[in-house]
Amino acid sequence: MMVLLGIESTAHTASVGIVDERAQVLALATDMYRPPSGGIHPREAANHHVELLPQLVTQALDAAHVRPSEVEAVAFAQGPGLGPCLRAGATVARMLSLAWHRPLVPVNHCVAHVEIARVLSGLDDPLLLYASGGNTQVIAYFKGRYRVLGETLDIGIGNFLDKLWIELGGTFPGGPELEREAKQSTTLFPLPYSVHGMDVAFSGMLTAALALHRKGILRPDLAYSVEVTSYAMLTEITERALAHRRRNSVVLGGGVACNERLRGMVRAMVEGRGGTMFAPPRSLCVDNGAMIAWTGRLGLSSGLTVPVEASAVQPRQRTDVVDAPWRGG
Ligand code: AMP
Ligand code: MG
Repeated sequence: MMVLLGIESTAHTASVGIVDERAQVLALATDMYRPPSGGIHPREAANHHVELLPQLVTQALDAAHVRPSEVEAVAFAQGPGLGPCLRAGATVARMLSLAWHRPLVPVNHCVAHVEIARVLSGLDDPLLLYASGGNTQVIAYFKGRYRVLGETLDIGIGNFLDKLWIELGGTFPGGPELEREAKQSTTLFPLPYSVHGMDVAFSGMLTAALALHRKGILRPDLAYSVEVTSYAMLTEITERALAHRRRNSVVLGGGVACNERLRGMVRAMVEGRGGTMFAPPRSLCVDNGAMIAWTGRLGLSSGLTVPVEASAVQPRQRTDVVDAPWRGG
């Protein structure tokens, strides 16, 4: 049996995944850095990854009952992400590649979210709504590359939710806590709804939500209003992209795509158009090494390996600058 090992370390999550040639996840060992207070400091998250990744590699190999000699290649997330965090994962990947005499495959993190959702869904050419901490994009394949059709003009949806929750006195990550709060309310306060074509922006909503908080609006009502408004924005740009690109299916990716309300709203929109919506299980929706391993396999099949000397990380690598030759034409 030959398998691929993938390393994810773009932000707060250190993760090692092992997949086989049919995208079966043989092992997934993940540990997320949680700051004691406030947001993520890149260097502290990177220290966490340096400390944890070696044992996550061992854990994943043990859980998959795989020997290093059965690992065909080592894939790593090259970008986009936080520089120090990316370097932690890339360093471990290079060491394994050299020690095991196996090729090194660089993977774009956003493309990996699409590919794992695509293979799990069985959908051939879906659109991806990628809603995570740092990224918010609508992505579709077109002529050799994944193209960003729409995206956030300021902060990622998850960063927006996390910032709001921290300002309300909570700790990172805020998305799941806001989801819990929002389930206790059905009172909608108007908030800035900022859609520009297929792009969105969240900083105005953050300012307005904090103003409502200072006026004494209760947390459940605030959480409900923020969820409904921001997820409606994401649903709208996804629908516009579907119509423009003449697609009928949507897959979800990113930590915020774990949210039940967002899943429900996008599903209702897509099914209302007669299409199909698919959301991966939560462990493969959030940042994970299995999606890196699987996309590494696709890259390897197209010869996209790099020598260690040319494997620098690219913190600002955009989805649409990397080729996806395995998709064909
Ligand atoms: P990622 O960057 O893809 O690993 O996702 C992390 C982000 O997802 C953080 O901003 C979290 O607050 C957010 N998140 C995780 N679970 C949920 C949820 N159930 N609802 C909304 N946001 C969530
Ligand atoms: Mg991600």
